[in-house]
Amino acid sequence: MPIRPTPFIVYCPRCRWQKRVAPRSDVMLPGDMPERCPKCDSNALEHQQASGLLGRLLGR
Ligand SMILES: [Zn+2]
Repeated sequence: MPIRPTPFIVYCPRCRWQKRVAPRSDVMLPGDMPERCPKCDSNALEHQQASGLLGRLLGR
């Protein structure tokens, strides 16, 4: 039974750009994970599991 891929959030702490990424398979393609923010070109992106980020937001 294949592992269901977990959606995650790519988040830019600099300009607050964020994108939800939901891999179609358990194989991560290079294009699935942006390395730079398309908005401010920062490379300090943070990656959070969608459920984890939601939990953190709700917990505050
Ligand atoms: Zn940014």
